[in-house]
Amino acid sequence: MKKEPLYGKTINELIAITRRIGLPGYSARQIADWLYKHQISSVEEMTNLSKKARDMLSSEFEYGLSSPAEYLESSDGTKKYLYKVLDDKYIETAFIPEKERATICVSTQAGCKMGCLFCMTGKQGFQGNLSSNEILNQFRSLPEFSRITNIVYMGMGEPLDNIEEVLKSLEILTSDWGYAWSPTRITVSTVGIVEKMTAFLERSRVHLAVSLHTPFDEERLMLMPVQRTNPVREVIEIIRNAGITGQRRVSFEYILFKGFNDTPAHIKELSRLLNGIRCRVNLIRFHKIPGVSFESPGIEEVKKFRDMLNKKGIVATIRASRGEDIKAACGLLSTLSRNKTRS
Ligand code: SF4
Repeated sequence: MKKEPLYGKTINELIAITRRIGLPGYSARQIADWLYKHQISSVEEMTNLSKKARDMLSSEFEYGLSSPAEYLESSDGTKKYLYKVLDDKYIETAFIPEKERATICVSTQAGCKMGCLFCMTGKQGFQGNLSSNEILNQFRSLPEFSRITNIVYMGMGEPLDNIEEVLKSLEILTSDWGYAWSPTRITVSTVGIVEKMTAFLERSRVHLAVSLHTPFDEERLMLMPVQRTNPVREVIEIIRNAGITGQRRVSFEYILFKGFNDTPAHIKELSRLLNGIRCRVNLIRFHKIPGVSFESPGIEEVKKFRDMLNKKGIVATIRASRGEDIKAACGLLSTLSRNKTRS
């Protein structure tokens, strides 16, 4: 019988488990310490639990880590790892080292329901939600685990479409009994699911990134079918009314498609739409994927767009393109592995 993983459980879940199997009240905290503050990989190594307690735990539970199945490394040091999840699916995790920080980009679902035109993961369709164990395993089992300084939830899947497991993983990352990370080291990126936005903003303190890509409704609908049921204007209203203060940051992701969403009219409408929100716009050059005819603008055109936004009073930055030689577009590597497995 397959055992349930302990890694990825919150303190309340551990308390419920220890009560149920008859361990003393304090053992939940001891187990959390072994899971999130030490680098062991088996229940047997939890040496401040009695042998009997470890045997009772092991009869139903395993520690629950799994190593990546394979990886590709870019000439710029970026690595893309492939993890097997949900028995036979693949997800991607990117490790992006920079001078003073090292970021990982984690997935929250295998495939995705959202069907964004420019995204390879969307073309895979939805294959399942990841558990908090599978989300956090991408972090803990990464060979570069000890170097990681920041986490972005921008890999495969829509985080708010798997909100409970995502919130659990965030609780583990930021709680004292967990990794005790500052929420300012974590960013969750979403297309903006209206009915989940408030819960996400209230129940977490991490940075928020919203995929915008154009300020015009009809253009966004063409790029992102989610716009039909979750208009970005409603998402922005929720953010505007949430009264976000302090160090929490809101950003809008904007993939630039040459000749499509990079005109002066877009600048004007963006400044109208984002007026009054403390935010920044993150400009991203499009990574080409098969079957999509959009082109990426040159870096000079991207800089010009950034400067025009800045002139309008919108803080805009350009995200460096990393790992272009290792299938950087999200979902490309796992799609290839999926096709290999099927053939
Ligand atoms: S961009 Fe994100 S939300 Fe859209 S299809 Fe891809 S993974 Fe899903």
